[in-house]
Amino acid sequence: MRKKIIIGNWKMNGSVSSLKDFMNEVLPNLSENVEAGIAVPYPILGLLKDLSKGRNFKVSAQNMHFEKSGAFTGEVSSDMLIDLGVDTVIIGHSERRQYYNESDETVNLKLLKALEKNLLAIVCVGENLDERNNSKEKKVCERQILKAFEGVKLEDVHKVVVAYEPIWAIGTGKTASKEDAEEIASHIRNVLAGKYGKEAEKVRIQYGGSVKPSNVKELMEMPNIDGALVGGASLKAEDYIALINFDK
Ligand code: PEP
Repeated sequence: MRKKIIIGNWKMNGSVSSLKDFMNEVLPNLSENVEAGIAVPYPILGLLKDLSKGRNFKVSAQNMHFEKSGAFTGEVSSDMLIDLGVDTVIIGHSERRQYYNESDETVNLKLLKALEKNLLAIVCVGENLDERNNSKEKKVCERQILKAFEGVKLEDVHKVVVAYEPIWAIGTGKTASKEDAEEIASHIRNVLAGKYGKEAEKVRIQYGGSVKPSNVKELMEMPNIDGALVGGASLKAEDYIALINFDK
């Protein structure tokens, strides 16, 4: 049984005070059935770690560099994240692919580094609108998955979470139908099974793209959808609490 994992992605939002207020409301409302956490900007990651101390709450970064250290102005390494107590990292979010030249190759290097450092990696894949309109969504996700997992060892596969995030659904209010989301999640699992056999059953596949309290339950009920990566709706404590308690 794969435990559901719901992670909020705050993107470039939040502050010391808004994070404190958020966690005050959220911590008393965590659910035993769902692994929950948020990915916040670097400056408030240490605060998130402090606020969630002793609680089962994922402290996630939104990105990291694949090199250990060096002349990479503005970048943050896996060791720096670990030093702060971070346990999870998002890799290859479509906004990073779109605005910061993140490629299938860098996603792969980052995933290998995250696994080496025992960070829980959330690898994002998904097609854009043009690709969807031309029925290329399966091919695109397959290419992204196969490249991302290059060199990932069989024993590490279960440590990776895949987030299927169709780009046309991110921040647009347009959610993929539960059937469409399931179709791609199941395809992703098949692609992983082609490479890793039965281990693919252990990989958790999230859906992301305008998930909100009103649609989370039906998505989470699909057999190959094991959680959600949530942007906008994760910023409001009330909505976030509803998301992580979707089954109640
Ligand atoms: C995201 O940022 O990964 C995301 C899915 O955003 P939203 O929920 O706002 O569409």
